Amino acid sequence: MTVPTVTLNNGVDIPQLGFGVFQIKPADTRRATEAALEVGYRHVDTAEMYGNEAEVGQAIRASGVDRAEVFVTSKLHNSRHHPSDVAKAFDGTLAALDVGYVDLFLVHWPLPAADVDYVDTWKAMEDLLGTGHVRAIGVSNFQAAHLDRVLAEGSVVPAANQIEAHPYLTQEPLRAYDQAHGIATEAWSPLAKGHVLDDPAVVAVADAVGRTPAQVVLRWHIQRGDIVFPKSVTRSRVEENFAVFDFDLTADQMAAVGGLNRDERTGPDPDTFDYRP
Ligand code: NDP
Repeated sequence: MTVPTVTLNNGVDIPQLGFGVFQIKPADTRRATEAALEVGYRHVDTAEMYGNEAEVGQAIRASGVDRAEVFVTSKLHNSRHHPSDVAKAFDGTLAALDVGYVDLFLVHWPLPAADVDYVDTWKAMEDLLGTGHVRAIGVSNFQAAHLDRVLAEGSVVPAANQIEAHPYLTQEPLRAYDQAHGIATEAWSPLAKGHVLDDPAVVAVADAVGRTPAQVVLRWHIQRGDIVFPKSVTRSRVEENFAVFDFDLTADQMAAVGGLNRDERTGPDPDTFDYRP
């Protein structure tokens, strides 16, 4: 199964489907990531705040898969936003992963109420590109107003914006903003942590195409053009979530899933989230 890629604004290709490891305990992360790599995933999404970067790196090194074939994303810790901390935090990620370089490094949250301005954090992120240890930089959970300032005051356009998106939170305006500015949208919690899977409209499409609800929702994201990385510690689901490239949803089926939007988050609101442990 060949996973399609999305070309980021600096020419770097990212597999459109990856494996997310948020809330996988460090003790379980190596096994789970190895399973995903065995199934064929070649993109892993982690973060310093997940506490499992080292185990992701161990899995990649043990897998026998060429480093160049695996796309690794990590994210700047919320407590490391000060410009003088960014390079140190990145070095910590690099050392924990121990896979030579990071493919994509993101500012995890904008933290608009913090005493450090996210634009200053972003300017320090830009300096990482000169280290040769990161292929692309981007942001996560940035709203249009945050991106407006980054684009106006920064010198590098973020390669990606990783935002919560799923059928109950379709994020049309922010996705359009990203697209208009050459920023790839990554959809986190693509299954809404499982909450959308028993929605009758999703189940009806699943029955019509002979696939599972999770496959329908992931296929919907793929056909929209977003990048996704569902999380599962269940091997059969890891396989199921990967098998989404041999069927298509019709325009009506895409509209049925997208029509479920109710602007409902499963996670925090980026405009007010201020978690800095
Ligand atoms: P997901 O939408 O990926 O849902 C994960 C949940 O769905 C788990 O409970 C999993 O159960 C279950 N599940 C997975 N596959 C299936 C399936 N085929 N059928 C039924 N249930 C299924 O939510 P996440 O919040 O984990 O998001 C995915 C990734 O997004 C994270 O791992 C992380 O990489 C990223 N993320 C980024 C954030 C950010 O701020 N940038 C915030 C949150 C997430 P089980 O594991 O028990 O099988």
